[in-house]
Amino acid sequence: MTDVEVVGSGPNGLAAAVTLARAGLSVRVFERMPRWGGGARTAETVAPGFRHDTCSAVHPLAVASPFFRAFGLARRIPFVTPEISFAHPLGAADGGSGIAYRDLDRTVAELGRDGAAYRRLLGPLAARAREVARFTGSPLLRVPPHPVVAARFGMRALQQGSPLWNAGFAERVAPAMMTGVAAHAIAPQPSPVAAAAGLALQAHAHAAGWPLPVGGSQAISDALADDLRAHGGEIVTDHEVTSLDELTAAAIVLDVTPRALIRLAGHRMPAGYRSRLERFRYGSGSAKVQFALSGPVPWADERIARAGTVHIGGTRERIAAGEREVLAGRHAASPYVLVAQPSVFDSTRAPAGQHALWAYTHVPTGSTVDQTEAVTRAIEEVAPGFRDVILATRGTTAAELALDNPNYVGGDIAAGVATLPQLLARPVLSVDPWRTPLPGVYLCGASTVPGPGVHGQSGWFAARSVLRHEFGIARTPSLAP
Ligand SMILES: Cc1cc2nc3c(=O)[nH]c(=O)nc-3n(C[C@H](O)[C@H](O)[C@H](O)COP(=O)(O)OP(=O)(O)OC[C@H]3O[C@@H](n4cnc5c(N)ncnc54)[C@H](O)[C@@H]3O)c2cc1C
Repeated sequence: MTDVEVVGSGPNGLAAAVTLARAGLSVRVFERMPRWGGGARTAETVAPGFRHDTCSAVHPLAVASPFFRAFGLARRIPFVTPEISFAHPLGAADGGSGIAYRDLDRTVAELGRDGAAYRRLLGPLAARAREVARFTGSPLLRVPPHPVVAARFGMRALQQGSPLWNAGFAERVAPAMMTGVAAHAIAPQPSPVAAAAGLALQAHAHAAGWPLPVGGSQAISDALADDLRAHGGEIVTDHEVTSLDELTAAAIVLDVTPRALIRLAGHRMPAGYRSRLERFRYGSGSAKVQFALSGPVPWADERIARAGTVHIGGTRERIAAGEREVLAGRHAASPYVLVAQPSVFDSTRAPAGQHALWAYTHVPTGSTVDQTEAVTRAIEEVAPGFRDVILATRGTTAAELALDNPNYVGGDIAAGVATLPQLLARPVLSVDPWRTPLPGVYLCGASTVPGPGVHGQSGWFAARSVLRHEFGIARTPSLAP
């Protein structure tokens, strides 16, 4: 009999599977899609020769997270790290751009009057980015591994997450940069949760940077799958698990949402636990737009050509207003758009001289509205002539995203709304939130602590709980290459 069956091969499912296989257990992973990887996959989806990441594209956590550091991911696959982690053009109406170089000094120098305030916020966090990753990648209910760093981080998140968020800033560019990163959290702005997500990502932007795996996000999943198979594990693709009754292993690890767990095993669940899972809330959706381009994006500010990621949406106030509209269930008149340009740094992504551009924007949950025109217009505003380099596009609505991956309920790519209560209780309030009351059944996806992103932490924590409780193994196995 197989020791452990894992349902879902996203980064968390694979992280759990690798950890369990490394402990000497027999592991089988079931994946409903033809290819493993979940939110970390790459494919020719727009035009032949253009390799687009289907979900995640930019990977600060794949080098900074404790799981991936233990796994030695950066020694297993090549990454390219842009000199500019992210850029934030304000557009003709608002003027100027913010450029977040990996080099904090250079960033500060180009921010003029607001440079000092930007350094005060980010300098101490960037200098301790590794500790920030350990703290933000751990359950909030435990004593933080680095209390001084956690306190500095918390103070800043409270200030940037409050109506006093502009204190210390005199101009528009630096606050817009802060808000553009915080908007990754898909949460109200200002709010401590959005500010915390932004500060953590920004600390990495000025430390190891925001790297891109050569060949795309699939390279991360392939490295995990290779290690799993090298340690006797197996991945069964094109196999959707529709009920836990189909599974026979001693332990079951589910890379799914609480809603899916109810579908798979609701009939077996204690009523109290089931109603706690039913209260778990999902957030706004995202809609993707992928472009095949005949040449580089003609950014009005040519420094942006060297940025891995670009945040479009204008000033702090304009982005916050757009995000509020989305949270209220309306499409934003002026949307926040997140763009990545991997082919500028990685020649494997597109034919010579041509480019694969990746973008998404936030939309109401379950939206069926294609955002290709809205995203194209937003890019054109800061890159006049953009339309002339478009060869092909592919828009994916929030509703289609949810069909592609049931973990993205209504197109919520965070697999559960980011609120403070739901970061503490993810999916329920517990010191071991991965363990369910069903004997031998564990959750390991982004709906569990510490939340979304390609970091493998949820899978790693879940696997360690399985080892302890189901197999009496207290030692975490080495994951080193
Ligand atoms: C458009 C988009 C952009 C993103 N950008 C970034 C980014 O740049 N950087 C970053 O760090 N993160 C990003 N993310 C978030 C990141 O991809 C996710 O947080 C991460 O993939 C979550 O990993 P997971 O293992 O929990 O789940 P997932 O990656 O969602 O994987 C779950 C897997 O389980 C499978 N599955 C579900 N139910 C079943 C079943 N019943 N039977 C069999 N298989 C099943 C699914 O098919 C899927 O393969 C992005 C996500 C999206 C969608």
